[in-house]
Amino acid sequence: MTDTPLDFGDPEDLERLRNDFRAWLAGHPLPERPADEPLPVFLHRWHRQLHSGGWVGLDVPEQYGGRGLTALHQVTVSDELGARGAPGVPRIGYLAHALLRFGSEEQRRRLLPRMLSGDDVWCQGFSEPGAGSDLAGMSTYAERRPEGHYIVNGQKLWTSYAQYSGLCLLLARTDRAAPAHASISAFVLPLDRPGVTVRPLRAANGDDEFCELFLDDVRLEESERIGAEGDGWPLAMTTVAYERNALDTGHLSKYGLLIERLRRAAHERRKLPDGLLSDIGRCAVDYQVLVAHARRRTAERLAGQSAGPESSVDKLLMTRAEQRLYETALKVFPEELYGEGGEVLGDYFYSRAASVYGGTSQIQRNIIAKRLLGLPVGPRA
Ligand SMILES: Cc1cc2nc3c(=O)[nH]c(=O)nc-3n(C[C@H](O)[C@H](O)[C@H](O)COP(=O)(O)OP(=O)(O)OC[C@H]3O[C@@H](n4cnc5c(N)ncnc54)[C@H](O)[C@@H]3O)c2cc1C
Repeated sequence: MTDTPLDFGDPEDLERLRNDFRAWLAGHPLPERPADEPLPVFLHRWHRQLHSGGWVGLDVPEQYGGRGLTALHQVTVSDELGARGAPGVPRIGYLAHALLRFGSEEQRRRLLPRMLSGDDVWCQGFSEPGAGSDLAGMSTYAERRPEGHYIVNGQKLWTSYAQYSGLCLLLARTDRAAPAHASISAFVLPLDRPGVTVRPLRAANGDDEFCELFLDDVRLEESERIGAEGDGWPLAMTTVAYERNALDTGHLSKYGLLIERLRRAAHERRKLPDGLLSDIGRCAVDYQVLVAHARRRTAERLAGQSAGPESSVDKLLMTRAEQRLYETALKVFPEELYGEGGEVLGDYFYSRAASVYGGTSQIQRNIIAKRLLGLPVGPRA
């Protein structure tokens, strides 16, 4: 946690940026999404549109295709989008930060501008059938050959939207003897490489977000490894830490919009049962706590601190806030449930996944207990 005073930047500078962004949005509104257009294709069009105006990668240095501003500028843009109910800046921020920290200079210059512009679409190949929470137990293996390249064999699971992606940030074990956390390395895997099979899985709700990835004797060059051998674990932790922050993901202002809608409904109807009123009150408290935490995390980043195990607190708070909010919203707007089902119902269903993606709630509690509170690890029951 930070010992330095919290720095929230220059409010006038941020206000100017927000006004510039609003003016740009007025001339470049969210495009229409045809009924048959898959969500990732639509989001990719939106990504390119935002990039064309310079609204992606604000906190990435200019030499890598960003604008060289701060995390606060980036979250101001995310906040403005959420406040308008528009999809957030594409969630590549966490991959970009992993590349910034671990990639070579050559990789940063080659990969980051294309990632930010949307010329390359990335997915994240971490989880496996037997290694989700226990990432250290992964079995995908990249065997280093005497000539210097790697041959990779294994399987990944839950790889979101791999079928719409060109590159995958892949984790694989490169040493079978070393302790688990020192034996995982990260690679850029082009998904059209011989030996790669991407198989989409259709979920019960009809979505095809998840994919299986089969890797059979896939050749990867040494230049496709990100960082040193064994850097895969800290790289993965950097990635998930960014994925767990409600400001980075742009969720925060979206929650704020819905709370305001609930507040208005409570005023207008004047007949909501007491229980429901107190639920709305709890949602408002969750939201305020989350705002305070997200601001503190952003201030820590401005002070140069890397994301650490504290991000588990953010993830738990975000999950609690999101799940309670959409549960409450469905009770206040039951027509969402029994009518055609609008955005609230879709968001309610997706909120159930918040306690799983980016690390489950149980795992976040384990991290808090061990790494933040230093509690002793007892024998397994
Ligand atoms: C919407 C969504 C998108 C995703 N996208 C991606 C992606 O793009 N790329 C990717 O690599 N992965 C992705 N995932 C996978 C996600 O990271 C894993 O689902 C998650 O890490 C849990 O792993 P698992 O599913 O294997 O569950 P398991 O690890 O098998 O866990 C099963 C249950 O056991 C509990 N448990 C396990 N170990 C412990 C323990 N030590 N102590 C207490 N409880 C424990 C867990 O909390 C959970 O409740 C996505 C998941 C979702 C839901």
